Amino acid sequence: MYACGLLNDGYTEPFINGFDYAWRKLPEVYPQNKKIEKCESCKYIGLCETCPANRLAETGDWFGVPQYACDEAKEIYQILSKMDII
Ligand code: SF4
Repeated sequence: MYACGLLNDGYTEPFINGFDYAWRKLPEVYPQNKKIEKCESCKYIGLCETCPANRLAETGDWFGVPQYACDEAKEIYQILSKMDII
């Protein structure tokens, strides 16, 4: 059992340990949340679509920062700014 279909790391085994146990154990197999310095001060954070699974898949690090996500968020910001939406 994975928390997300994009993940290939961090899982429990409901067919071995039972669904109830696997469900309750699932949060424990993921790293504790921590602040990502670059994102903490990012002006595009409200438009950013990055998530832990995406960070892991794209950078190999649960707390990595995929550059294309930053580029995408910045581009969305610029488009919305030109449209006077933000
Ligand atoms: S755009 Fe980049 S720096 Fe900003 S919140 Fe998203 S991943 Fe972090």
